[in-house]
Amino acid sequence: MEDAYRQEKTRLLQDVARGVAETSRFLGKDSLAPATIDAMMRVDRHEFVPHDLLQLAYENRPLPIGHEQTISQPYIVAIMTDMLDLTPESRVLEIGTGCGYQAAVLGEIAAAVVTLERVGALADTAKERLKRLGYSNITVLHADGAQGWAAEAPYDGIIVTAAAEKIPEALVAQLRPDGRMVIPLGRRARTQSLVLLEKGAEGNIREGCHLPVAFVPLIENIL
Ligand code: SAH
Repeated sequence: MEDAYRQEKTRLLQDVARGVAETSRFLGKDSLAPATIDAMMRVDRHEFVPHDLLQLAYENRPLPIGHEQTISQPYIVAIMTDMLDLTPESRVLEIGTGCGYQAAVLGEIAAAVVTLERVGALADTAKERLKRLGYSNITVLHADGAQGWAAEAPYDGIIVTAAAEKIPEALVAQLRPDGRMVIPLGRRARTQSLVLLEKGAEGNIREGCHLPVAFVPLIENIL
C-alpha cells in the first residue's frame, strides 16, 4: 500500500541519522542497522500522538501525551531499538509503554513484545491502539515494571523507557544469558545516562554506552 507519510518519515530518519552520527562516540557506531531503519519507516508515529499535536508527529522531538508522560524522541527510540540487536526470533520486555510507539517499533522486528505500564489509562489506550494497528505480537499489561514480568521470562532484550536510580534486580534476573538491556540511569534529567548492559553466558554483566539523556522517572510500587 502507498505510504502517505513516506516523505515525512524519510526526512525524520535523516534527522535521526544525523543525531546518530553526532553521538557515534557514545554509540560505538555511526549509523543504524537496516532493520532499525525499516522498522522506524513502517510505524506511523501520527497514530501515537495526541490530536492537537498531529502536525508535530514527524518532528524529531518528544511530545506530551498526558498523565505527565511523553512519547519519546524518535532518535531515542531508534538508538534504543538498535542497541538491543534484535532478530525476528527475539522476545522483548519493555518497561514504560506510554502511548505504545516504542513497542510498535520493537514489534516490527521481534517475534514478541511484552510491555508494562503503571498508568492504567495509558495502558488501556496503548492496548486498544496497538490492536487496531494490527500488532498481534505485542502484549500490553498494567503492572509495575520494576518487577518485570517473570511469567514470560527470560527475555532476549529488555528496554526501560523511564529513568531508574539503579538497575532493578528483577530485570537482570529475567534477562537471558547473551541478552541485552538498555536503561536510562540517574535521578535527575540532567545527570541521566543511557546504559547498555550485556549479560554474558555465565551471567556476568558488561556495561557500556553512557549517552547523556533525559527521561521521565521510573516510579516503583505505585499502581
Ligand atoms: N515508551 C514510550 C515512552 C514512555 S514514557 C514511547 O514509546 O514513547 C515512560 C513511561 O513509563 C510512562 O508512561 C510512565 O507512566 C511509565 N512508567 C514509569 N514508571 C513505571 C513503572 N514502574 N512501571 C511501568 N511503567 C512505568
